[in-house]
Order: sequence, then C-alpha cells, then structure tokens
Amino acid sequence: MSQPFLLADSDYLQCPLCADSYVHIEDVYVAGRPREDGPVVPVHVDSAGRVLTGDEVDLPIPETGRRHVISLGGRCEGCGGRFTIEFKQHKGQTVLAVRRPVWTTIARPLAD
Ligand SMILES: [Zn+2]
Repeated sequence: MSQPFLLADSDYLQCPLCADSYVHIEDVYVAGRPREDGPVVPVHVDSAGRVLTGDEVDLPIPETGRRHVISLGGRCEGCGGRFTIEFKQHKGQTVLAVRRPVWTTIARPLAD
C-alpha cells in the first residue's frame, strides 16, 4: 500500500516538492459549501489560530467543483518551497492534489 508524502518507515510528512521531511503545515484553507453547487464560503485559519472569512481570503484553490475543498498550506525548510495539499470532494470520492499556490498580498489583513 502506498503512503504518499510519508518518509519511509516513519510518520514524518515529506515535502511534496523535494521529499525533505522538515516541513511545516501552517495554514488551512476551506472552500466551504453550505450545499452542493451553493456559493463558496472562503475560510483561512493560520498557525496562530487567526480566522479570516469572506472576500478577504485568497484561496489557493483554483477549481472548487461542486462541493467543498479543504487545503493544507505548508512550507519546506529544505527547498524553501511553499505548497498546498488539497482534498476535493467529487462524486463521493476525495481527489488529492498538490499545488504551488500563487499567493497575493492582502493589504493589512490582520491590522490592529
Ligand atoms: Zn521541499
């Protein structure tokens, strides 16, 4: 049985870009859907526990399909890369995708 993203004989997550095991998962993005084909409710939770919702969230999820998508955002100490591991519900199954998101700066999203 394959175990994608896990270092052999361990429980350590590997970087999907370079296979280094020094990775940090720091963000959770949710393209929420109150119902199938309903409007997308964007949510971002960062590693400090801050929660953003609505239009100020820049989802790194290019295609939401008809249901919700949950994406884990991380960075790698080895290659310095940023990535997302995305789980998309599709017809009763879960589609996994690894992406290199294009993040854009939001003007002071967490200003005091
Ligand atoms: Zn890496």
